[in-house]
Amino acid sequence: MATDRTNLLDLDRQGLSGFFAELAEKPFRSDQVTKWIHQSGVCDFSRMTNLGKALRSRLHEIAAVELPQIINEQASIDGTHKWLLRLADGNCIETVFIPETDRGTLCVSSQVGCVLNCTFCATARQGYSRNLSTGEIIGQLWLASQVLGSGPGAARVISNVVLMGMGEPLLNFNNVVPAMNLMLDDMAYGLSRRRVTISTAGVVPGIDRLAEVCPVSLAVSLHAPNDELRDQLVPLNRKYPIVPLLAACRRYVRHQPRSRVTFEYTMLDGVNDSDTQARQLLGILGDVPAKVNLIPFNPFPGSGYQRSGEQTIDRFREILHRGGVVTMTRKTRGEDIDAACGQLAGKVQDRTRRSRQHLDGLNQ
Ligand code: SAH
Repeated sequence: MATDRTNLLDLDRQGLSGFFAELAEKPFRSDQVTKWIHQSGVCDFSRMTNLGKALRSRLHEIAAVELPQIINEQASIDGTHKWLLRLADGNCIETVFIPETDRGTLCVSSQVGCVLNCTFCATARQGYSRNLSTGEIIGQLWLASQVLGSGPGAARVISNVVLMGMGEPLLNFNNVVPAMNLMLDDMAYGLSRRRVTISTAGVVPGIDRLAEVCPVSLAVSLHAPNDELRDQLVPLNRKYPIVPLLAACRRYVRHQPRSRVTFEYTMLDGVNDSDTQARQLLGILGDVPAKVNLIPFNPFPGSGYQRSGEQTIDRFREILHRGGVVTMTRKTRGEDIDAACGQLAGKVQDRTRRSRQHLDGLNQ
């Protein structure tokens, strides 16, 4: 399927303007084509009726709108949907839709696999293949919107997008930002900045760049209240420890008055869920405008961890709450179809050979 045609799904509106400028076309062509592709779901140039005939046939020659292919769809008893998408090179990624009473959230992947190797995450076990292109990231929203039937006039089915699927979005900065521009663009998906969330394991320079170029809602995967434990759970902590990470979070919210950083904290039985650790967490969050999301650990084969007990999670939340930090326990969704946080795996051509090492480790 790979062609040397430009995939217009890779271009945000500014990128499309550049594309049309090279064709000596008027700038408003990029508005028209953005609307056709992202609002009307039209990928066939011959149906883009407000473009002249000559332009349409020129586009046929030099451009295309190429989408990932849905190869499997699963629906959970709780309404969560999970799609397995095949990319042009044969790699597969997963995308999840989580309906709630007041909103619908699409959880989007940013990489094929992940390099970070967090010890409690299923994606990590798959190893890493490559970054997703802008088209492969926004293609997930395009496909889900079509399948779920949201469009102009229809009820807004997808009201929120979270970059919390497979991969570390801030390690794929240059492709993620144009995809987010399209999510925010009124000519495309028109979501507000509050409703687009990027989740990072703590890539400090990426957080600072994001504040400059595309300040959406920020979630940081913290999972531990001190460097000693975080070094083990989230190995990236050895590069960007807690103090510089929280300093970056403070700088980030300075750009957006009234906003807060969401800290994700996966509750691992007997590992990071004690009262002392809750108090230590309160201590380090200090003056950071923060909200904490406790995520009950979602098990997967061979993970070696257990989910904290319900009472333990409640007590942990209560300590944070009494300390003045808004704290929620994230409801586990889509567990029966392996669509919950940390369970996304897809099919990854592992270039790190990590999955092999892991299997060898298990066999020893
Ligand atoms: N790399 C980014 C995006 C992945 S988001 C990040 O780390 O933020 C996925 C979220 O689910 C992260 O907060 C991650 O730490 C959490 N998670 C991973 N594995 C999990 C598991 N098995 N159970 C619960 N949460 C998990």
